[in-house]
Amino acid sequence: MTDKKAAIDAGWNFDNSYAGLPDSFFTKQDPTPVRSPKLIVFNERLATTLGLNAQALQSDEGAAVFAGNQIPEGAFPLAQAYAGHQFGYFTMLGDGRAVLLGEQITPQGERMDIQLKGSGRTPYSRGGDGRAALGPMLREYIISEAMHALGIPTTRSLAVVTTGQPVTRERDLPGAILTRVAASHLRIGTFQYARGAGTIEDLRTLADYTLERHYPEVDPGENRYLSLLKEVIKRQAALIAKWQLVGFIHGVMNTDNMTLSGETIDYGPCAFMDTYDPDTVFSSIDREGRYTYGNQPYIAAWNLARLAEALLPLLHEDEEQAVKLAEDAITQFNKLYHQHWLAGMRAKLGIFNEEQQDEALIKDLLTMMQNYRSDYTNTFRALTFDKPEDTALSGTTEFATWVEQWQARLGRQQESKASSQELMRSSNPAVIPRNHRVEEALEAAEKHGDYSVMERLLDVLSKPYAHSPEQAEYSTLPELSTRPYRTYCGT
Ligand code: AMP
Ligand code: MG
Repeated sequence: MTDKKAAIDAGWNFDNSYAGLPDSFFTKQDPTPVRSPKLIVFNERLATTLGLNAQALQSDEGAAVFAGNQIPEGAFPLAQAYAGHQFGYFTMLGDGRAVLLGEQITPQGERMDIQLKGSGRTPYSRGGDGRAALGPMLREYIISEAMHALGIPTTRSLAVVTTGQPVTRERDLPGAILTRVAASHLRIGTFQYARGAGTIEDLRTLADYTLERHYPEVDPGENRYLSLLKEVIKRQAALIAKWQLVGFIHGVMNTDNMTLSGETIDYGPCAFMDTYDPDTVFSSIDREGRYTYGNQPYIAAWNLARLAEALLPLLHEDEEQAVKLAEDAITQFNKLYHQHWLAGMRAKLGIFNEEQQDEALIKDLLTMMQNYRSDYTNTFRALTFDKPEDTALSGTTEFATWVEQWQARLGRQQESKASSQELMRSSNPAVIPRNHRVEEALEAAEKHGDYSVMERLLDVLSKPYAHSPEQAEYSTLPELSTRPYRTYCGT
């Protein structure tokens, strides 16, 4: 039986604005209770910023809430409807294994979605069991928290509970539920759903809701739906540039996995690139390499074009005009993305001002890195600490020439060498969640119930720009035998 009220005052302060949207956007859905919930990872710091009582939640009652066995007061659990292009093909989807408990209003007045992922079947489950396995939920926890620490907009992870029930995949795996925190779960796919399954009025209601929630500064008098499109394009251009700058590969950039808020969402077969190669792809299900590292900016633009299409009836009453407005907006993505990327790359090389040849300098380095199979993160780290000899490029004349050019370039700006190094330290992470380290942490947890490996990893990843001595061992590369790395879809 689901006990409707949690006994503890955990600080829940729910509002349920999403439930005020037209009925077609969701189905009221309680989580399905599980056998024996056990809280295994809990994000105390995040809980506190959400206004939650971290101590009260680290209890049996807390575990019951994060497992969906108890519904906290004020929550209104629902599964969201959405559609999406998956690997280019349009499908009706929806939360097949997640429920939104509600929106926690934080002490700072922010509105954050609290979602349970792996909480049982919903009307959108299609053939799925509505459940999630421990490994993928821990993986999402580690990588989303690492992304946050790297300064990249992302959904967060509040807790993972094990359910005491196995989930059947290729074999039986321990079941788990992740509590995800997001600015919202509004996706490009939510708009595609509204366009495909609802009325124009529903679409307008959704767009107004999104504007109010994420872009309150937009002038309601102007063409506000065009402004919405432009603002989402801006945020996504900034986001994807940040991914590229740290070597993050999302793995499943389907339109249902792209948010309107500009946060990274849905960590499935994602991974960080070790060796620099634009063709890097990790996901075992991405056989055609649609979502390679190098393709991510193009795919983002393609996905945003799907958002633009969904918004067309709101952009202009004349269809031709609407298409023209949408196209002009989409064209901006490449320009904006490139500006962010170039600014970020300059910072990675300690460059403050702008010179025409900077892009050539950056591209020359990347080309060498690709040809000599250099580690992406460690190459920039070595340059940060003035140790070009520590890179795989060292010993080649072309690299020696490049270093000279780079040094000359730094000499042509006013800022001191020390300021350059400071800029590089804060732009080049000492550590990223390296695949072999993530796997090691997951294995210890899954096989031996040992969470200490993961806790240590999370600690190191929480200060990626610290460049502290204890981080050194986390920057070593995987054994050659573990390559090529493959990630499997987190279902
Ligand atoms: P994802 O690949 O995580 O973005 O999920 C794509 C779609 O499949 C979403 O609609 C999910 O809710 C759904 N889905 C994934 N795994 C399951 C599952 N085990 N049971 C039901 N639905 C699922
Ligand atoms: Mg998804």
